[in-house]
Amino acid sequence: MNFELTLERQMMQDSLRRFLSDRYTTQMRNGILDSDAGFSADIWAQLADLGILGALFAEEQGGYGGAGFDIAVVFEELGRAGVVEPLLDSAILGGGLISALGSADQQKLVEQVIEGSLHLAFAHGEPASRYDLQHVETTASQQGDAVTLNGCKAVVVNAEAAGYLITSAREFGAPRDEAGISLFLVPKDAPGLSMRGYPLLAGGRAAEVALDKVTLPVTARLGGAGAGYPVIAERAAAASVALAAETLGAMETATALTRDYLQTRQQFGRPIGSFQALQHRMADLLIELTQARSAVINAAGHLSAAPRLRDLHISAARNLVARVGRLVAEESIQLHGGIAMTQDYALAHIAKRIVMAEHRFGDADYHLETFIDLTA
Ligand SMILES: Cc1cc2nc3c(=O)[nH]c(=O)nc-3n(C[C@H](O)[C@H](O)[C@H](O)COP(=O)(O)OP(=O)(O)OC[C@H]3O[C@@H](n4cnc5c(N)ncnc54)[C@H](O)[C@@H]3O)c2cc1C
Repeated sequence: MNFELTLERQMMQDSLRRFLSDRYTTQMRNGILDSDAGFSADIWAQLADLGILGALFAEEQGGYGGAGFDIAVVFEELGRAGVVEPLLDSAILGGGLISALGSADQQKLVEQVIEGSLHLAFAHGEPASRYDLQHVETTASQQGDAVTLNGCKAVVVNAEAAGYLITSAREFGAPRDEAGISLFLVPKDAPGLSMRGYPLLAGGRAAEVALDKVTLPVTARLGGAGAGYPVIAERAAAASVALAAETLGAMETATALTRDYLQTRQQFGRPIGSFQALQHRMADLLIELTQARSAVINAAGHLSAAPRLRDLHISAARNLVARVGRLVAEESIQLHGGIAMTQDYALAHIAKRIVMAEHRFGDADYHLETFIDLTA
């Protein structure tokens, strides 16, 4: 596996890092966190102009990237700056599902995502599904040229801003069967769709979505009837690469802030970093961070592998990154003392992002179990 970034990816990394370090200050982000929208339309437009949304799609989809390493480079920088804008939901999940399954007409929506004019959300998780991607109780029944959806979707991130909710529903089979799950393009204003929105702990917003006899033309289906699961699993794997890379970037920031703090905070007439007990703790964090970086590179490099091999490497990375992330967040806060709890200081938000990223698409325990199942 080649560990060096291509020239194009290096350039994208440089320009994104520069843009975010200039614009995405702690003060600016705290303003976004306090806003009703939960993200900045201005930052979104500028990310689109910089081509960052395009980097998450392949050339045939109108972008210029889309591979595991493109996703990893972008999300590492987003994590480094603690960005709350919903790139995962609009591009990796919503846009990715449409580009994988959509008809020529539906694909036109991907262009709008890339240019920044359309938001999407993936309405998949349900109150009883936990992390299990095949658990879908929401039903879809077809009568002639119409399909009617009924059910509830839980924690649909970016639902309020989305023009369409890419909604999973079961057309046949039992609630935990892989076969039988379809995806539908549901306009946010579809009659029968209602949502209750709320802010998320580490930024952004989500909603509980109810589908009460939501009737759509059959052309709203993405791909074949009941055949959505493999693409859902593939996009969940891409989201896992994104979340692991985002956590890596956030951990880089947390450790850099902590190292600086240990070198400047004076206690007993000298910087506290001159005490060996704290140096050992810092050294442990830096070693674990290097391990996490290797795991993210490995996961990104296996995103296009066959499903079993892909999921094995991705679960290994998610488990390791979750454990290291928890350690880095907790140690960084502890080493900082009381200042780490202050919202005006970058670490408070970064630590929340690290801890909460673990809980999307499988936490440490879930990925450990998946890894064991796949190696059995
Ligand atoms: C909202 C809030 C409420 C709190 N309430 C209470 C309370 O009710 N009661 C209470 O007791 N505390 C309370 N605290 C904790 C307390 O105020 C301090 O945050 C805590 O004692 C750490 O001190 P500090 O911030 O000065 O950290 P620092 O002195 O900067 O230390 C940073 C880290 O380095 C370690 N350290 C410093 N010097 C050395 C050294 N020479 N060798 C090894 N390690 C070292 C410290 O243990 C700490 O982990 C509260 C904190 C917060 C944020």
